[in-house]
Amino acid sequence: MSASINSRTFLEVYDKQNAGKFQLTPAPELKITIDDFIKIIEGNYTKWTTPIVTRISNRGATPFEVLVSTILSLRTKDQVTALASNRLFKVARTPKEIMALDNETLKKLIYPVGFYPTKTRQLQEISHIIIKEYGGNVPNELDELLKLPGVGRKTANLVLIEGFQKPAICVDTHVHRVSNRIGYVKTKTADKTEAALRKKLPLRHWIRFNEFLVAFGQSICKPISPFCSTCPVNRTCPKIGVTKCR
Ligand code: SF4
Repeated sequence: MSASINSRTFLEVYDKQNAGKFQLTPAPELKITIDDFIKIIEGNYTKWTTPIVTRISNRGATPFEVLVSTILSLRTKDQVTALASNRLFKVARTPKEIMALDNETLKKLIYPVGFYPTKTRQLQEISHIIIKEYGGNVPNELDELLKLPGVGRKTANLVLIEGFQKPAICVDTHVHRVSNRIGYVKTKTADKTEAALRKKLPLRHWIRFNEFLVAFGQSICKPISPFCSTCPVNRTCPKIGVTKCR
């Protein structure tokens, strides 16, 4: 008890003696509002490739197809996801139709997406649970989606956005990286970025934030050596953590 009083007293005295002597340098941040940043990104969006799950959703996919293609897209290139999704949806588009496929057939249809043997099992288990516990319909609540095998926060949030058009924050590697580079958040993990964005990002931007930042992150603000010289927010971006750019 006395140690904490002593250290508090010391800090109070130190603060009084040194008031005004030091000035903290504010963390660098975007020199425009997030509204303006998003407006600029949206204005350039058509130059970049639309993320695969958004493309599938825009074609009128059901929430189940969005869920399946999101799972297929994990650790997989967009082109591979597109081909695998098309192959699968020609044969099976509902939980019942997936359940009707034997293991080998399903595996062949989604090959070569990343971790296809694991994803084959997950798709079968998810289809079974959706039929048994949700009457054949994908649940539209985050907590329920998170109960499905292999469904993490990124997948669940993307299903809410692209499957149900519900505002949610989906943080993948691009959203995490770009949000930090522009100084909008200062976080070490995707989960912390999600929590920070939930507090800070105006609700009106939630639905399209992932779509915009994924397209932007894949084309311009790349993980290694981003294209800062041709970036539409170059002059206003603090480029936090960027050591090499083009
Ligand atoms: S590409 Fe460069 S300038 Fe553009 S957002 Fe990324 S770090 Fe900032």
